[in-house]
Amino acid sequence: MRMALNLARKGLGKTLPNPMVGAVVVKNKKIVGRGYHKRYGESHAEINALMKAGKNASGATLYVNLEPCCFYGNTPPCTEAIMKAGIKKVVCAAYDPNPKVKGRGIKKLMEGKIEVEVGVLEKEAKRLNEIYFKFRKKKLPFVILFLNLSLDGKMVPSEPFYDDSDFQKFLKRLYLEVNGILVNSMQSEYLFNLLRKEKYRLFVFDKKRDNTINTLHNLIENNIFCLLVTGGKEVNTYFLKNKLVDKIYSFFSPDILGKGENPFGDLGIFEVSDCVCLEEVKLQEYNSGFLLSGYPLWRR
Ligand SMILES: [Zn+2]
Repeated sequence: MRMALNLARKGLGKTLPNPMVGAVVVKNKKIVGRGYHKRYGESHAEINALMKAGKNASGATLYVNLEPCCFYGNTPPCTEAIMKAGIKKVVCAAYDPNPKVKGRGIKKLMEGKIEVEVGVLEKEAKRLNEIYFKFRKKKLPFVILFLNLSLDGKMVPSEPFYDDSDFQKFLKRLYLEVNGILVNSMQSEYLFNLLRKEKYRLFVFDKKRDNTINTLHNLIENNIFCLLVTGGKEVNTYFLKNKLVDKIYSFFSPDILGKGENPFGDLGIFEVSDCVCLEEVKLQEYNSGFLLSGYPLWRR
């Protein structure tokens, strides 16, 4: 399954609105086929892996990080191909939240007398496709808040990671997933140039004019599945206060400014126990500073 997840990751940024999927065919403890969904509109991971396996697929086990599809889309259903190939057992990490699938793929396979196991590395599989799971379940884009802070937690007006090639690699990977960026002014020349170069959809935050939730729903209609919010204090506060943030990246440079703007204003929190808490926190070291990532834990 870990191999299937790694294969899936190769489709990063190219599969949406489809998920990233990888598949591995195993027979007699040997890998006889592997494949992944390369880009939207092209054949699914299961089909690619079954093609590689050929006749060896008969009696084999198929590992796949998401429930196989069971409907006619751009391609015929994978469940049919799996049954036709003579697969004996299917191990998948998670159910597909797509209303057209949602357990029906598994049911089809079981009706075809195939042994099925669901839930192997489920958490990792859901994280890998967190953007897909968010828009399928909530019809909202996955919102990433990006903060650029000094060691004393003030917003840094410049980009200390401008010359940091490792950090640039991280940003490139991040921008593969993001297809919309929300700012509250055009103050960042660096960001603006990057956006122009990469042709992202850019949104300027206007609290007074927009009904943000409606705006976010509209973004999905316009194929904006992942929105990067990188604004000032006002936009950060608004998004966090309204529980609209799915993931936070906070870059800290080892500089102490002493004065400057805080990244957040009043969040309406009175008790320490009510603070916004991050889970699954990771810390990554770079030449120009360190990057903290985590998921706000919304106590709903
Ligand atoms: Zn499929």
